[in-house]
Amino acid sequence: MDDVLIVGAGPAGAVAGVVAARAGARVRLLDRATFPRDKLCGDTINPGTLARLRHLGLHEEIDRHGLKVDGMILTGERGVGVVGRYPQGVWGRAVVRRELDWLLLQQALAAGCQFDEGIAVQRVVVEEIGARRAVTGVAVGANGATRTIAAPVVIAADGRRSTIAFGLGLARHPSRPRRWAIGGYFENFLPTQSDRDAVATELPAGCLGEMHVRRNGYIGVAPLPGGLTNVCLVKPSGPADADLRDPSALLTRALARDPLLRDRAAGARLAAQPVVLGPLAVDVEPPTLDGLILAGDAAGFIDPMTGDGLRFAVRGGELAAAAAVHALEHGWSGVPERLAAERRREFAAKWRFNRLTRALVASPRAVDAATIGGQLVPRAFEALIGHAGDCYC
Ligand SMILES: Cc1cc2nc3c(=O)[nH]c(=O)nc-3n(C[C@H](O)[C@H](O)[C@H](O)COP(=O)(O)OP(=O)(O)OC[C@H]3O[C@@H](n4cnc5c(N)ncnc54)[C@H](O)[C@@H]3O)c2cc1C
Repeated sequence: MDDVLIVGAGPAGAVAGVVAARAGARVRLLDRATFPRDKLCGDTINPGTLARLRHLGLHEEIDRHGLKVDGMILTGERGVGVVGRYPQGVWGRAVVRRELDWLLLQQALAAGCQFDEGIAVQRVVVEEIGARRAVTGVAVGANGATRTIAAPVVIAADGRRSTIAFGLGLARHPSRPRRWAIGGYFENFLPTQSDRDAVATELPAGCLGEMHVRRNGYIGVAPLPGGLTNVCLVKPSGPADADLRDPSALLTRALARDPLLRDRAAGARLAAQPVVLGPLAVDVEPPTLDGLILAGDAAGFIDPMTGDGLRFAVRGGELAAAAAVHALEHGWSGVPERLAAERRREFAAKWRFNRLTRALVASPRAVDAATIGGQLVPRAFEALIGHAGDCYC
């Protein structure tokens, strides 16, 4: 029998697998997808995430494959823009998620994890053990043919729509905000003036991530290796929104209407059909069952605006693996409480920042004020960008 069963081989699952396997646990990763697989994301690894990956020795291939990102541009409804470079000369990377997740999974395999792909987990198996209820494995399969896979520890790293967290009633979409994301890859999307200047002067600068906040949502833009550009539109919406049925038209129309982006997008074409996701926000309660740990988006998701979900996934994967190894060696007593406390210590300040940012972007006036303030006090804006990029963790 495996010691640790990890459901989901995205960044949270792969990193949890690396850490647990290096600590000597027998680890099995399961994923319903076959890898490499696509994942809608802004494709930006912020400096804090990169630092964690470096700490784990998982960065070399990412550095080889990714573009250097050394700051962000924020623009508001009135067209005011401000550039903030990350402080202390640190940088992030832009890598297509299909590639990033594949690279991390390879590292998990190299660390000794087993991997079964194309296996959809339906639910966790819960048993009464003495006076306590414990997760003892998972049920997998389809079309009525179900089998169980047993393990003393299950890590649910199955993403924002976690089958496990929703199945146990731990997760729910808050009533507000209800935002959807529409994301796609473009070819021939022109770079920002700032990126063009850097190339023209051959400065050793990296490129910039971009966040364009508008009255009805925001558009994130990230240059990628191979001449691709990632564009994600995030807007208030609902399943009845007819616009969501034609995401290509929705995305290209949003770009064509935008005074700052339309010229850069004029000659661009979609490299593939865009992807639609929503509602984005998910609130999750920590599990209290023995044998179960949540990691990554399965443990909750606030908003993509701050571009730091990968840090929660990577660091959350590390903490989940450490908790799993502790539980295997010393039993479950106190494990959920300690893990919850560690997650709060690591993430609570950023969760507050992200909730505040999520509320702020709903107010175009506040964003205009932030961009104007950023121009007047660039150091304060850089500190903000540094905080968003997890540079001080
Ligand atoms: C529009 C958008 C833009 C974003 N941009 C950024 C960004 O630029 N930078 C950043 O840091 N973060 C960004 N994020 C957040 C980031 O994408 C996530 O936080 C990150 O992917 C979380 O990783 P994860 O491993 O928890 O989940 P995932 O990467 O979603 O992986 C979950 C895995 O679980 C598998 N799975 C799901 N259900 C089952 C099941 N029942 N059985 C078996 N396997 C299952 C899936 O196939 C998948 O491989 C963005 C998010 C969105 C929505």
